[in-house]
Amino acid sequence: MTDGMRVVVVGAGFSGLAAALALARAGAQVRVLEARDRVGGRVLTRWLPELTQVDLGAQWIGPTQDRMYALVAEHGLATFASAAVGAPTLLWAGRHRAEPPADVARVLSLLDEYAARLDPAAPWRAPEAAQWDRTILGGWLRSTAGDGDTADYLGRLLAGGLLASGADELSLLHLLFYLRSAGGTAPLLGMAGGAQQDRIVGGPSALAERMAGALPPGALMLAAPVRAIEQNADGVTAWTDTGRVDGDALVVALAPALAGRIRYAPPLPALRDGLTQRMPMGSALKVHAVYPEPFWRADGLSGVSTSSAGPLTETVDNSTPTSPLGVLTGFSYASDAAAPPRG
Ligand SMILES: Cc1cc2nc3c(=O)[nH]c(=O)nc-3n(C[C@H](O)[C@H](O)[C@H](O)COP(=O)(O)OP(=O)(O)OC[C@H]3O[C@@H](n4cnc5c(N)ncnc54)[C@H](O)[C@@H]3O)c2cc1C
Repeated sequence: MTDGMRVVVVGAGFSGLAAALALARAGAQVRVLEARDRVGGRVLTRWLPELTQVDLGAQWIGPTQDRMYALVAEHGLATFASAAVGAPTLLWAGRHRAEPPADVARVLSLLDEYAARLDPAAPWRAPEAAQWDRTILGGWLRSTAGDGDTADYLGRLLAGGLLASGADELSLLHLLFYLRSAGGTAPLLGMAGGAQQDRIVGGPSALAERMAGALPPGALMLAAPVRAIEQNADGVTAWTDTGRVDGDALVVALAPALAGRIRYAPPLPALRDGLTQRMPMGSALKVHAVYPEPFWRADGLSGVSTSSAGPLTETVDNSTPTSPLGVLTGFSYASDAAAPPRG
């Protein structure tokens, strides 16, 4: 059906590159238009001395991300296990604490129980869906957890760590849908056996570059931001700053907020247009501190830390097996990441 069809793909992040490769494989003539002068979008790998790989954007894949593992293998790359040996550190209301209060596990298991009631393909069909959709996650946590620190801690880990948002920016239903889709709180929050299990040798940028290299010659146009998309009976035209690219069909592989910046003629259907207006980007900061060695390991610490307050929600040991340097990476989310520098 796609054989010989001219298909324009907007965006050369993983989704645009994967779509373009699948279409090319199905016989389509693809053109990929990417705004930046590089592929990969929200992944970017940089190298420090001693071949220390630092992934500035996305970095982990784990069980259930089967298609990412398949892409890694298909493009001749390998994964390595995230460093995860030793004890985690917990900073609770500014003080060290051995373990989180039992209430944390109780609330997580309640969330898993609620999430299990959803059909991931139609979460709105659950009997409680309307009520959960009206419920702000932060408010639910404050009324369900035994105290404010527990509510803050869980809000930071779940809304921040999983969705780069504040707990008061999300509905309970949205979090439950996300948990249900990925198998629950334990796989999402875990390192080994969880979403933070593996990294890509050479970094996710290497994968994006290999995917781009597998496109038909001349298919990829960099520095080509699409400003407008017009569709009529003859096909579809993407307008960039330098001209037009025509096709029979077009795929927009962008986050909704960025897709909403393109002018469409005819306009997008109302519901889709509404989505682009109502689904903002999250806010996340990733900070890499680099040391001569991963010194925390000598104290039996894993480098994994979480906190109920303060600018950093969590840290991980991001050292790589091939470099002697120690990399400790901290994450900041939502208003902590979006706040202007104080000074
Ligand atoms: C700091 C950080 C850490 C993350 N960590 C993880 C992780 O560990 N594991 C994980 O699975 N996910 C993680 N993510 C999420 C992951 O990065 C994204 O889900 C994924 O990269 C999105 O890919 P995409 O192709 O959908 O979008 P993008 O990567 O955003 O690609 C969209 C592309 O479209 C281009 N573009 C935008 N507008 C236009 C236009 N008008 N015309 C042409 N091109 C345009 C952009 O330049 C970009 O290249 C993380 C994200 C961030 C920011």
